[in-house]
Amino acid sequence: MPFLDEHPGGAKILKRFAGKNATKAFWKYHSENVLKRHGPKYEIGEVAEAAKLPQSGYCRVMIEPASCASSQHPHDELNANLFTKQHLESLDSTHHIPPRRPSSALPIVSQPTMDAHDGGILDPAAAEKRLLLRHADGYDDASASTTARNPPTLPTQAALRAAEASLAPRADPGWHARGWEGRRLVAHILGDVVPALTGQAASSRYYGFVTGGVLPAAEWADNVVSRCDQNVQVHLPGQTVATAVEDAALAMLAGLLRLESGSGSGNEVDEMTATATWRGRTFTTGATASNVLGLACGREAVLQKRLGASDSPGVGELGLLAACLRAGVSEVQVLTSAGHSSLSKAASIVGIGRACVKELRRGAGQPWRLDLDALEAELRRPGVASIIAVSAGDVNTGGFALDGVDEWRRVRELADKYGSWIHVDGAFGIFARVLGDGDEYAWLKKQLDGIELADSITVDGHKMLNVPYDCGMFYTRSASILQSVFTNPNAAYLASGSSAASIPSPLNIGLENSRRFRALPVYAALLSEGYPGFERLVANTVQLSRRVAGYLRDSPHYELLPDAGAPLDRVFMIVLFRARDAALNDVLVERINETRQMYVSGTAWGGQKAVRIAVSNWKVDVERDFKVVTAILEAVAAAETFDIERIDAQ
Ligand SMILES: *Cc1c(COP(=O)(O)O)cnc(C)c1O
Repeated sequence: MPFLDEHPGGAKILKRFAGKNATKAFWKYHSENVLKRHGPKYEIGEVAEAAKLPQSGYCRVMIEPASCASSQHPHDELNANLFTKQHLESLDSTHHIPPRRPSSALPIVSQPTMDAHDGGILDPAAAEKRLLLRHADGYDDASASTTARNPPTLPTQAALRAAEASLAPRADPGWHARGWEGRRLVAHILGDVVPALTGQAASSRYYGFVTGGVLPAAEWADNVVSRCDQNVQVHLPGQTVATAVEDAALAMLAGLLRLESGSGSGNEVDEMTATATWRGRTFTTGATASNVLGLACGREAVLQKRLGASDSPGVGELGLLAACLRAGVSEVQVLTSAGHSSLSKAASIVGIGRACVKELRRGAGQPWRLDLDALEAELRRPGVASIIAVSAGDVNTGGFALDGVDEWRRVRELADKYGSWIHVDGAFGIFARVLGDGDEYAWLKKQLDGIELADSITVDGHKMLNVPYDCGMFYTRSASILQSVFTNPNAAYLASGSSAASIPSPLNIGLENSRRFRALPVYAALLSEGYPGFERLVANTVQLSRRVAGYLRDSPHYELLPDAGAPLDRVFMIVLFRARDAALNDVLVERINETRQMYVSGTAWGGQKAVRIAVSNWKVDVERDFKVVTAILEAVAAAETFDIERIDAQ
């Protein structure tokens, strides 16, 4: 029996459905167009029964199918039966298109290995429709219901409890005796699990951590990746184009980030130059993994320099201990300012040690700024090898360690003089380089002017690039250092066949051997957006952040951090603040998040609690989100209940 799950707050929907043909109301959560096109096929019928589930406080609405039986396609029937309201809200409210049968007029579905019932993943017409939603006038359909327009940032506590209670093996200790039938499994995943996931992809106002969202092109390509299940570890140009796609995507991204040039602005972009400069490049699982690669390369390089002859075996061969003894090095250290926590983790993993990550902050007011005099003093210490880790985007403030090309040059000179390695953690911050030439972005872009002087760079994919988890990138000038660390030796069965291959086998330049085809969503996102698309995407996050920062600066209830007096063009896409009232500040994160229309994460600043808003989703709608965010902050300050319906009614 098909059913529709509903949150406790949705008693309304029960009333609306009871005794009526539910189809129209049901599809209202979607869009009128879809109803027109597919309505008859998805005729749902009447609400026959409503029962309260005692444990969760949920309502389970039983709906009699009207014409499902007439559907010929198994997916159609499944979807008609199992789309719950939450599913539409949290999973697909912005760009769900019901699966269509592959059209026989279109040729590419003819591969024998491709299942015709693929839910539209390999169907060109269905795929195209998904992509259209990015370039349409706006994904925000003002005629859609308030709930559809405002997918919750968080599930309800009831949904979380219900989902946990529903999980096998607790809820079904006998689950292993026999496989679940498809309908039951799908109902469980869509009805129990999905409603208990965060709305970080669905909502434009999920501002916790730095999460990004998923561009439609990237989401579709990610489904293609799962469908085709490539193992991208060995370069096998006679068998798969996957490694070439990886290499192309990395070159294109280097172009977008202007890694080849001295500035992120105005220059003729030359991806070929970038490719020649950043010969070592690979996909990772994220910025943490890229930081591991960065420190591993740095460790290899700084000890190589002290070991003398460039052909002498390095750390990868000898091990850190033996290499240090041979080179007369008593300590390897990482010098940084406001380094991301993952930098310490990376230091532990590569054998440097968390205690050897040293914070050289320029002062309490701007802790993200690197103190260059202290840096030189540390580099000069005898018997110590150093890696300089430049924070390009501090997670609390969005601040940059270095201010412009003069500082970058000085760090480069120091690194060369003392045999150090410069690794840049640009996880999200490096995306300031894609901003346009306007004065409003000049200061921001100047911070990164000189990043091309680094030896290695971390870039995150699942943040500002808005591709799905998990995805990161790593670039280094030195392909040979990368290979000397990550070479996977003596496995004849993993040889690429061509030793002179222009594209190295990924297993020799990164952590994993077997790897996901992470490049495809990046490749698709870059092609779909072009440079202007990403320029707009990042600019939107900056614009919204600055509007909110301006509001906070002028508000009697809140205090803009770290420096309310700083010009607003210093604001990137993270806004830090606290409530002036200490009691409110104590519970501010909870008060904001319980609205389920805006999600923030907490942090500490100057020894007190603070709140960060990190704007990173492609769905940002500057005007509308500003209105909602400020209304929420006003309501929280006034201890009033926030009602999103009232905003939409305005
Ligand atoms: C997010 C982030 C990381 C960690 O990245 P993951 O993708 O979560 O592994 C590292 N450094 C910075 C600056 C970050 O913002």
